Formats: sequence, C-alpha cells, structure tokens
Amino acid sequence: MQNIFILVFILVLSSCSKTTKSANQTDRKIEQNYDVEVPVFSSDSAYSFVQKQVDFGPRVPNTKEHAACAEFLAEKLAQFGAEVTVQKADVRAFDGTILKAKNIIGSYNTDNETRILLFAHWDTRPWADYDANPDNHNTPILGANDGGSGVGVLLEAARQFGLKKPEVGIDIIFFDAEDYGAPDNFANQNTADSWCLGSQYWARNKHIPNYRAKYGILLDMVGASNAKFYREQISDYYAKYVVDKVWDKAAKLGFSNYFINQPGKTITDDHLYINQLAGIPSIDIIHQELHSETGFGSFWHTVNDTMDGIDKNTLNAVGTTLLHVVYNEK
Ligand SMILES: [Zn+2]
Repeated sequence: MQNIFILVFILVLSSCSKTTKSANQTDRKIEQNYDVEVPVFSSDSAYSFVQKQVDFGPRVPNTKEHAACAEFLAEKLAQFGAEVTVQKADVRAFDGTILKAKNIIGSYNTDNETRILLFAHWDTRPWADYDANPDNHNTPILGANDGGSGVGVLLEAARQFGLKKPEVGIDIIFFDAEDYGAPDNFANQNTADSWCLGSQYWARNKHIPNYRAKYGILLDMVGASNAKFYREQISDYYAKYVVDKVWDKAAKLGFSNYFINQPGKTITDDHLYINQLAGIPSIDIIHQELHSETGFGSFWHTVNDTMDGIDKNTLNAVGTTLLHVVYNEK
C-alpha cells in the first residue's frame, strides 16, 4: 500500500516537473536504482545487538560490565570489516570522578576523503534518577533504549557495510561517558557540560589529525514502539540540509509516522559538541515526547529502560532510512 503510494507520488512529481527531459530521465534512473542497490536492514539482527549489550548489564564507566561490552563492540566492528580504533580517554565527571572512557571507532573506505560520521553513545546512566520510585534513584539503568538501541542499529549498519561497501567513507563512533551528567539535585555551579564527555574529548582530540566529515548523524533512543523523531533544534540550526535529507528519505520510504517533519526541542547530546567543537554539521535522531514532563519517553532514566521497550519496527524504520541515506551518497 505504501509502496504504491510512493510510486504514484513519484510519477506525479515527474510529470509535473519543469526540468528538461534528460534531467528527468536521470532522476528516474536514480529512483529505480536505489531500491536495488541499498542492502536490506535486518531489524532482527539490530535487535540481537541491543540484547547482547543489555546482557552485559548496565555499562557504567569504570565497571567490569563496561569493560566487557567495550571489547564486544570493538570485536564486532572488526568482524564486520571495519578498521577499528579504540580511543582511551581519562575524563573528569561533574563530581571529580575520573572515568576511564573508551570511544570505539570503526572506519570503512579509509582512503576516501568524502566521509560520513555515524554515532551513538554506548555507556549507560549510573542512576535511574527519573524513576517514579525514589528507592531506585541510585540504581544503574539497563539502557536498552538509551544507549543500546543506537549502537544496535549502527552495528547492523556496520554488518551491511562489511558485506557491501558504500561509495563514501564511513566512520562509526560509539562515544563513551555521554550519560554521566550531573543529576538535577547536584548542588554545584556549572554542570552544563557534564554530559557527553566522550564526544567532547574526541572533538578536541580527533583520532586522525585534521579529520573531516561531510556531516554526522547521531542515533539516540531509537528503539521504542511508535517513537517520534521530531526535527531537533540544534540539528536544524547547524545542519538543516541533513535533517531535510534524512526526513525526506524517511517519508519516501513510508516512515513519516516516525520521522515527524515538525520542530522538536533543543537537546544537549553528543551532536552539540560535534557541531560546536569538531565543526562537523551533525543531526540527532532522537525520540522526543513533546508533551511529557521530561520531554522524553516515560522509560527515560528509569529502571524500565529494558528490552521490553524495544520494538523491531522502530529499529527497522531508523536503520532502513539510515542505509538509504548512506548508500545514496557519492
Ligand atoms: Zn540518557
């Protein structure tokens, strides 16, 4: 049903177009080709990668579960044909704790100067400080969605890149220490930059000197049933054309019930620092609930962020859109 609609839509567009005949033919050729050439995203595979992370337990920096998951992620990227770099960083948390952080990087087509950066955070929050039950406020979260889902989708993308290389260069970065930000009740001065410590470190110490990417895409909380991805405002400010590109592609694929073409809120997330410090125009595909108290889903920073909240349909919508964007880049 949706495919038919899209076909009709394209035909109508073509027939109304004022472009020359040859340009029209080129457009049609591209439209015909991209479905053939873009690999099919497996949501089963992505789901299993989320499950695998959750099976380690909470991935809080300086714990053995965190160390074990780091090894798993680096091994998987290598298995999927990426050139792997593990960037170690001692970063200082808001409370003075030194976090032994690892940014895990998988690169494809390293000779290609046209590069796309895909990223997600892989650590999980040490405290369920938004749980309805105050007894849980010091319990680490499982982070199936908050952390796990973005990484799961990118691991499945990496598996596909290993099977069929995109034309452009790709760098996947799993950033660490995103979710160790100061709790609301932490009485101290400036805690605004206490989140996203791994991406801040990388932005100041790129794994390759003078590293450049055309643009970046961050995935965060991309696993909930009926997730809504609004146009996050930092993304629209720094990289509107990328938001347009991704949301247009999602609509063409029939996913506009997930990718809502309306403004969302402004979210402090890894893409903020990749935009401001690294100078790479980057967007955040992030689940927002515009009318909830926190702005996020009810699972957010609670003990309920478990596999029960992960829906393969949502992973599929995000992963399929991402592959179509990436494989159409030249
Ligand atoms: Zn979080």
